[in-house]
Amino acid sequence: MIAEHRKAALVVADHSRDAADCRQLLEALGLAEPAPKRRGRPRGEYGHGIPARYSQGCRCKECTAAFTASAREWRARVRQDPSAADRAGHGKASTYKNYACRCSPCVAANTDRCRAQRAARKARAA
Ligand SMILES: [Zn+2]
Ligand SMILES: [Zn+2]
Repeated sequence: MIAEHRKAALVVADHSRDAADCRQLLEALGLAEPAPKRRGRPRGEYGHGIPARYSQGCRCKECTAAFTASAREWRARVRQDPSAADRAGHGKASTYKNYACRCSPCVAANTDRCRAQRAARKARAA
């Protein structure tokens, strides 16, 4: 809300009889705050064990399992379509893993990633 609007709204609030009166006056003056826009269900209302909840940051066993399963399904689906790997781009470890591309740039990228992961694991263990 713009500062002047806020000031005007406070004056209106001061001169109104009650909350309903205040709201009516603000609406008449075009100063009423628009109702907050919300799309879909509010965050807290989803149960656990769904991939969307995992995407929101929940790492409970059920949500993790649901996300893993949905990622596996997605991977199986995109692997059916060879052009999907082209769209994803070659020379990436993610294309090797997700799209099962075994072209040499993707294989090389995956080898690099495995090497980096191995080194990180070693560093953590030490
Ligand atoms: Zn959860
Ligand atoms: Zn590739």
